[in-house]
Amino acid sequence: MSDTLPPCPECASTYVYQVDALLICPECGHEFSATASEEEGPQVRDSVGNPLADGDTVTVIKDLKVKGSSLVVKVGTKVRGIRLVDGDHDIDCKIPGIGQMGLKSEFVKKVSE
Ligand SMILES: [Zn+2]
Repeated sequence: MSDTLPPCPECASTYVYQVDALLICPECGHEFSATASEEEGPQVRDSVGNPLADGDTVTVIKDLKVKGSSLVVKVGTKVRGIRLVDGDHDIDCKIPGIGQMGLKSEFVKKVSE
């Protein structure tokens, strides 16, 4: 019974106790999750480090060959409504004139519209 619980993020009390998935601070009454941490899963970032989110618009920063075809996604191609997915190609999107495909976040740059 020597589980080390994190101190209360509100008042830094070390008398925090656990009830199911919740940690409760007896000193200030703060309740917080035992499993949550600073990181909320892997953050997908573009080539210059901007965080990307579903629905963002990006431009392609280099010519990309489309696997299994002779098509090329040209540098500067604007892609609207991206969707973040798990995997090697972490952006799922529809490219005008080409169709549905996966892109790597390192080859795009976020556009603020
Ligand atoms: Zn507290």
